[in-house]
Amino acid sequence: SKAWTLEKHFKDFPKPSDFKLQEIKLPEIKDGEVLLEALFLSVDPYMRSYSFVVMKEGDIMIGSQVARVVESKNSAFPVGDFVISSAGWTTHSISDGKNLEPLLRNWPKHLPKSLALGTIGMPGLTAYFGLFEVCHLKEGDTILVNAAAGAVGSVVVQIAKIKGCKVVGCAGTDVKVAYLKEIGCDEAFNYKTVSSLEEALKKASPSGYDCYFDNVGGAFSRVALLQMKQYGRIALCGAISVYNDTAPQIGTYPVVSFILKELKMEGFIVTRWKDKSEEALKQLMTWVVEGKLKYHEHITEGFDNMPTGFLGMLKGENTGKAIIKV
Ligand code: NDP
Repeated sequence: SKAWTLEKHFKDFPKPSDFKLQEIKLPEIKDGEVLLEALFLSVDPYMRSYSFVVMKEGDIMIGSQVARVVESKNSAFPVGDFVISSAGWTTHSISDGKNLEPLLRNWPKHLPKSLALGTIGMPGLTAYFGLFEVCHLKEGDTILVNAAAGAVGSVVVQIAKIKGCKVVGCAGTDVKVAYLKEIGCDEAFNYKTVSSLEEALKKASPSGYDCYFDNVGGAFSRVALLQMKQYGRIALCGAISVYNDTAPQIGTYPVVSFILKELKMEGFIVTRWKDKSEEALKQLMTWVVEGKLKYHEHITEGFDNMPTGFLGMLKGENTGKAIIKV
């Protein structure tokens, strides 16, 4: 069995030398336990933003994977079952079943199981709850979303379209912008090449934005927040533009404009709606099967390449969900 550990805590942008590949010998499984073999592993921004909170140097890197049960002494998880495990960056792991979620029932044969880490998994739920529970999305709203071609963003775009909204999406390459138009964005632009973000946002929606689904934070938000409409709703989902900063960014939010426009801004963590997750996953799966919710995966082959896949995602190399295939 192999595992990637955090060799050194990240300092600004993570480096390949911050990770170490280890050989691990697992014991025999005991009663109540299962042995899992990873098929797909997820690389996500939280592995950077939560790294100091949840890991110490030498720990196995945190994360979710889709795994197959290869040995079982737990009748709830027979050999051959597929599960979602939070074992981290490991090829094999032992579980007593507590940290396992079975793959959604009736998973269609033609759908890749890796979608359980993306569009029909945690990132899809993030888009779903962020839009419905935080933005209180309504038909006819105009929505702004950044990192729009990524795992969460691409689902935000498409749910908002399903619900009859106007969607403006921003991403960091022209290929991603073309993808955004393909999945239904009414307006899309490359935030790295526009001469003025403010002008681009005004041009995309001259009357402003009812909702802002923020995956990026920082300087982008300081501009975007000024473009909100009266009673605008802002879902603070992520702040990937600041995760690698070593000092807080200097800059103020437009407080007076907030008051005058009576805006509502709310941070959220997807796990708040655990009791509604199964229902939401079923809805996401239905939309995927109906062809209303398209998915794209950026697959890095080989467990040994996990750091490459992770760093690539942080650099913006992924369109859709960044996945590692063992
Ligand atoms: P993505 O698939 O969107 O991948 C990350 C993307 O972020 C990159 O592809 C890149 O796209 C963009 N990015 C990287 N650096 C910057 C930067 N400096 N400025 C602007 N954009 C940047 O990741 P996810 O969909 O998994 O996550 C998106 C956001 O959602 C993250 O902030 C994450 O932390 C957050 N999140 C929050 C959750 C919650 O419960 N609140 C749950 C899951 C995710 P580009 O080419 O467009 O720059």
